[in-house]
Amino acid sequence: MKSKIQWSAGNIGSKDFVCGYCGNGLVSEKGWQGGVAGQPAASIYICHYCTRPTFIDYDEEQIPDVKFGGDVEGISESLVSELYNEARNCMSVSGHTAAVLCSRKLLMNVAVSKGAKEGLQFIKYVEYLSDNHYVPPDAKDWVDHIRKKGNEATHEIAIMQRENAEEIISFVEMILRLVYEFPAKVKRKTSPVTTTVT
Ligand SMILES: [Zn+2]
Repeated sequence: MKSKIQWSAGNIGSKDFVCGYCGNGLVSEKGWQGGVAGQPAASIYICHYCTRPTFIDYDEEQIPDVKFGGDVEGISESLVSELYNEARNCMSVSGHTAAVLCSRKLLMNVAVSKGAKEGLQFIKYVEYLSDNHYVPPDAKDWVDHIRKKGNEATHEIAIMQRENAEEIISFVEMILRLVYEFPAKVKRKTSPVTTTVT
């Protein structure tokens, strides 16, 4: 059994980090400092913005860590939105393989919502999005890269590294912006404005 940590609350050494809950960067000195045999072992810092606690281990591992990828607005399908958030959340707990699997399922869903057949291989859906111009020409290299990575693990669940997960989430983020966010923004701008005459 690991040594028990003795906790003390109050003002502890200041620490700058990015909060995994709200995404704000901050310097905090409020929280709990834990020690084993008089040596600092771990800390819990409280975010000034969202007031939630972040655990930082003795080796600087942060839980929850920062979500990878940016917020995308205008996603009309709740399943797509939930899968994207789930993939991003997986990154905050170093669940890279889960993030990749989630991202693949997401790309399949987006392709099906845009007319692709159900029950195809993941690669076919990436090709569908590319062939139907949802991927811009300059991002075609991404398709080849994602295809190659997908082929490597078609019939098995290979353990993925952070780099693999970041790549596919970046790709997904781009697709979601092009398929949902930008069209929704234009729609808002071009929809007739109703004015109230008093
Ligand atoms: Zn926060």
